[in-house]
Amino acid sequence: MITAFVDGPVIKGDGQILEHATVLVEGERIVKIAEGNVAIPKDARRIPLDGRTLLPGFIDSHVHLCMDASPDPITTVLAEPLTMTAIKAAQFAKQTLMAGVTSVRDMGGRNGVDLVLRQAVQSGLIPGPRMLVSGQLICMTGGHGWQIGREANGPDEVRKAAREQIKAGADIVKFMATGGVMTPAVEPGSEQLTEEELHAGIQEAHKAGKKTATHAMGTKGILNALRAGIDSIEHGVYLDEEAVSLMVKHDIPLIPTISALYNIDSKGVEAGIPAFAVEKTLQVKPFHLKSVRMAHEAGVRVAMGTDAGTPFNLHGENLIEVRLLVERGFSPMEAIESGTRIASQVLGLDKELGTIEEGKLADLIVVDGNPLEDVGLLLNGEAIRLVMQGGKLVKGE
Ligand SMILES: [Zn+2]
Repeated sequence: MITAFVDGPVIKGDGQILEHATVLVEGERIVKIAEGNVAIPKDARRIPLDGRTLLPGFIDSHVHLCMDASPDPITTVLAEPLTMTAIKAAQFAKQTLMAGVTSVRDMGGRNGVDLVLRQAVQSGLIPGPRMLVSGQLICMTGGHGWQIGREANGPDEVRKAAREQIKAGADIVKFMATGGVMTPAVEPGSEQLTEEELHAGIQEAHKAGKKTATHAMGTKGILNALRAGIDSIEHGVYLDEEAVSLMVKHDIPLIPTISALYNIDSKGVEAGIPAFAVEKTLQVKPFHLKSVRMAHEAGVRVAMGTDAGTPFNLHGENLIEVRLLVERGFSPMEAIESGTRIASQVLGLDKELGTIEEGKLADLIVVDGNPLEDVGLLLNGEAIRLVMQGGKLVKGE
């Protein structure tokens, strides 16, 4: 079956826009993209774009499908049975896909729910984004995220913890190099896993051909992770010049997850978010703002990631991050690339996803109107008229 998206603006994901292009999809792949007159097979399903815009499916590089975005999601997830976590996660996966996010990287699950969810989506049992998952995050004893993490101390144990995640089927290994906001009594700026510990874990992941990522807020922890060979920096609150220049030199992307801090800050204690989390958010926010700007100006690759699942950071509202990037100085086109081409590189799937190109998988969305003129459109569920994943229509028409 051939589907033809006919005569519309096509944002390719690589910074280009074609104004009157036709895109043909056959099976699970894009087989043609061209401006002007394109021969469309008679029996093709025709989808006229008519003032609507075709884009690559978005990729959220940092979500937690096991967390429900309630005011205190860690407490919630620990209090509920694992079966409830799994049922909720299935619902969140669907909401994410319907919002136009066709792939995600899950950056910390609970007791294997993320691994099973990936399998359920892959096999077609439930709708959801393509998933790369980290399994349990790896932290020091009492370190950030310990409540759902695998605590490990010393290089040997961190190595073992990485091996465990890979054995369980993780696609990536996530480490905690610093404190964070959502764990009581840890400082976001403090170092946690040491450079030696990170190095042991990263080496192990790389041996198995897996990428690594680190939660990293404080400067020293960010530097530890960069020196230890990490593949991406998540959050990056206190970047300094040395960190930025190392990121440029080694081409290490930043996933700033602006919406995590934005939602905690805008909802506050009144909405039930623990006071310690709100206080720490207010503390780190101005530094984070500065760091994102510094990274952007220096040419660090910035990928869209939301940290969806943290307080009021709702699954299905992922594309708020595109707007937040624009509010922090990215052009709308750059912000869209962050959520498509660059995010596909972070996932290591840029040969298959991230741009509309012949031969790539047909993960595509149709948006009412022009997101380059109004990037806020992307956040409106009704404006996301159609979602195609691997050539299958999962929403619309
Ligand atoms: Zn996270």
